[in-house]
Amino acid sequence: MLINVLYKVGYLLCLLSLLNSLTSCGTRNDEPIIESPAYILNKNTLVYHDPDCKYLPAEKNQVEIEYADIEHNPEYRPCGHCKPE
Ligand SMILES: [Zn+2]
Repeated sequence: MLINVLYKVGYLLCLLSLLNSLTSCGTRNDEPIIESPAYILNKNTLVYHDPDCKYLPAEKNQVEIEYADIEHNPEYRPCGHCKPE
């Protein structure tokens, strides 16, 4: 009987913490602000895009690069759709 009650209390606590973690997701402000990368490179084709281009490669092929990376890698080519600088 007692074990049964403890089990139920444990279940409730678990449920509460789950709810708490769900509702606190959007209100947390202790996370660092992630700056968007300068460009997204497709590591298969070496074509780079603006981060908001709608022709971005599949996520597994995306590499975040900076402007300096393009300067140092002349084989990188700009996307023909978003035309990054
Ligand atoms: Zn693009």
